[in-house]
Amino acid sequence: MAVKGLKEETAKKWISENNRSWLEYDLTPDASRLVERLRCRVCSDERVRALRNYSNSFVEGITGSGMKKDNVKKHSRTEMHVKAIALSRGVKRTLSEIYSSTPLGKAFKKSNSDEESRVSKLIEISYMVAKEELPFSKFPSVCKTEKRHKVPLGTKYINEEKCSEFTTSIGQAFEDELVQELNQSPYITILTDGSTDASVRQSLKQTIIDAFQELGVKNMQNKLVGLCCDGASVNMGRNRGLAALLRQDSPWSQEASRTLAEVLGRLLGSKTYRMGSSRDWCYWTLLWPKNKESLTEFGKEELLQVKTHFDGLFQLHSVRTDALESEFTEMKLFWYSNLSHLSRADFWSAGYSILKTQYPNLLHVFIVLKLLPVSNAKVERAFSFMRRVKSDWRNSLSESTLNHLLRIDIDGPDFDDFDPSASVNMFFSDKVTRSGPAGVAGPSTS
Ligand SMILES: [Zn+2]
Repeated sequence: MAVKGLKEETAKKWISENNRSWLEYDLTPDASRLVERLRCRVCSDERVRALRNYSNSFVEGITGSGMKKDNVKKHSRTEMHVKAIALSRGVKRTLSEIYSSTPLGKAFKKSNSDEESRVSKLIEISYMVAKEELPFSKFPSVCKTEKRHKVPLGTKYINEEKCSEFTTSIGQAFEDELVQELNQSPYITILTDGSTDASVRQSLKQTIIDAFQELGVKNMQNKLVGLCCDGASVNMGRNRGLAALLRQDSPWSQEASRTLAEVLGRLLGSKTYRMGSSRDWCYWTLLWPKNKESLTEFGKEELLQVKTHFDGLFQLHSVRTDALESEFTEMKLFWYSNLSHLSRADFWSAGYSILKTQYPNLLHVFIVLKLLPVSNAKVERAFSFMRRVKSDWRNSLSESTLNHLLRIDIDGPDFDDFDPSASVNMFFSDKVTRSGPAGVAGPSTS
């Protein structure tokens, strides 16, 4: 009986057709010149492994009746292969650039756009579920209702686990954005709460430092302007409180303090000024003296106090503090001659770009003042969210899922303003850490 099998010649032909130089074969150990195994050279790249549709069949190699030309063709059209080819050529382009510039990429993108549009809708539903603080178990019912209304959602992702995965994609997209902002921003302020146990002080400071490091935010201590926490001694204790411990590294960092608020109130010309309140910040120019001589003198003393207090921080950011006073005077006069007719909102929408281009040193003062902490209300909101969620959902959520839900609840825009595109990209990227079944167990509704 003749041995059936793939001949070496045939494999060579497949390789030369369509420039399939990525296709490799092993011969059987005997002298029959028959192919034992077909493999893809490029798909063994480690970076392809994390892809959603990763399959190792062509990495380990296909054998026997699987060695069909059709399977070779199919493999060449998979997402992992398209990406692997791009990586093998050392092309430093993003996947979406590859999709829009190569014929294969374009074809692949078209076949995938339906799925993207489904996932985009499902991510919007997951966002609504998170925003409304509904348990993941409600997700399938909402999807089913939508499907009754002829919304094409497919069947693949309609379950609680996927809702948790979508929430992770949203949370990680938000986190990426936050990290980018934190790294770009020269200054930050920390709001914290929730510790009453004096023994955790040192580790509370370390926890904060570690949290920034884990996020990939570097030199947090050199950016720290202020700290806002509740008045417990663990936080505000004169020598060993969190604020004092953080000041060891960032001596200028300022906790919310009445005294400085008053200084700034004078600087900004309003007795009722509360630090960091953007509304009062906008009122500011309204309260500037209308008389040119008084305006020139206005705020000089307060500027000096701010300059002295934050001197160390300004040095780190190469601010020319000797230029602050003249820049402030020039800025006031510029406002007086050119901008005083503007409403305060219009003035401040122009204000930052004016500062940036004309008064670059003074800009730092304004950012620092704006970052001075005022209230811990946002943190309080986070805690009440935790209490609601934890009691309702009986601790069945993993820490990272809880983190994502919290970020959506506190920092996420209103549902109407939510743009799912970054989350969709995140979902299809290899960056999403997908938790195992235990981690994604949906909250119980009972
Ligand atoms: Zn391949």
